[in-house]
Amino acid sequence: MVISGKELAAELKGKMAEQVAGFEEKYGRVPHLVVILVGEDPGSVSYVTGKAKASAEVGIKNTTIRRPDTISEEELLGIIDDLNNDDGVDGILVQLPLPKHMDSDKVIAAIRYDKDVDGFHPANTAALWLKQPCVKPCTPKGIIELLKKANVEISGKNAVVIGRSNIVGLPVAKLLLDENATVTVAHSRTKNLGEVTSKADILIVAIGRPMFVKGDMVKEGAVVIDVGVNRNPETGKLCGDVDFAACVDKASVITPVPGGVGPMTICCLMQNTIECFLNKMNKK
Ligand code: NAP
Repeated sequence: MVISGKELAAELKGKMAEQVAGFEEKYGRVPHLVVILVGEDPGSVSYVTGKAKASAEVGIKNTTIRRPDTISEEELLGIIDDLNNDDGVDGILVQLPLPKHMDSDKVIAAIRYDKDVDGFHPANTAALWLKQPCVKPCTPKGIIELLKKANVEISGKNAVVIGRSNIVGLPVAKLLLDENATVTVAHSRTKNLGEVTSKADILIVAIGRPMFVKGDMVKEGAVVIDVGVNRNPETGKLCGDVDFAACVDKASVITPVPGGVGPMTICCLMQNTIECFLNKMNKK
């Protein structure tokens, strides 16, 4: 089965749109997401455009603040500070990567944790690992939703995550652990990677290497989730970290690229924005 993240995201966005439609009457306004884009990186421009489009579909107010990559870190921190103190802003997202002269960790930590819709703030990361209420990072959250939608039993299964980044590998490993999987996290220093991945009932691949995972690395009947977004060096087309053609017949469930994890990431960003909005409204 090829699971379409695109279809699931469309279904979830439809439900969110119905929910948001009632907010004006109930709370006097709709959620407001502010996205900050520094520079003109084409990938980042396209992600920011996708976030604005999804916000429009759901009925969330979206503001994109664009600044050239020559702005200082201080100026960016000033923008974040203003948004932190603006009661009419519910979610703040700084599109990554930032220019080299900026410290991304410092910038992310400057966002109010309860407006951190990406779920990258240290307070949200700590709360995730302590199993406390938090804003969950969008891609890992979307992966769990995809697995549930495909009726994949996670509890008791051997899950292998390749990649240990703060934004995908580590948090998805934690969410799988919370779902009672037995989790192995593999990375660039893992020895005999194919042997490790061949034991996976659920294989999550987030490494950023085009079509790296081949059929012989996948167990028969495994569930394969491809997080990678790469350009195929030969065709220039978008492709994942998994060699889809080589793995599709071995996997029981697999996600395509594009149309798999990517749309779910944006969908979860919308969910997080609504969550931050409702947390604030319900505190009043
Ligand atoms: P990242 O920060 O570059 O981390 C890559 C991870 O992969 C690292 O932990 C690295 O190991 C590991 N790795 C690299 N080469 C490897 C190899 N040959 N064998 C085993 N492990 C290897 O990447 P990321 O931000 O997690 O993103 C990963 C991919 O997902 C990228 O293609 C990115 O574009 C994509 N992505 C997609 C979405 C989406 O919504 N679809 C969202 C986020 C990211 P070390 O730690 O040892 O270096």
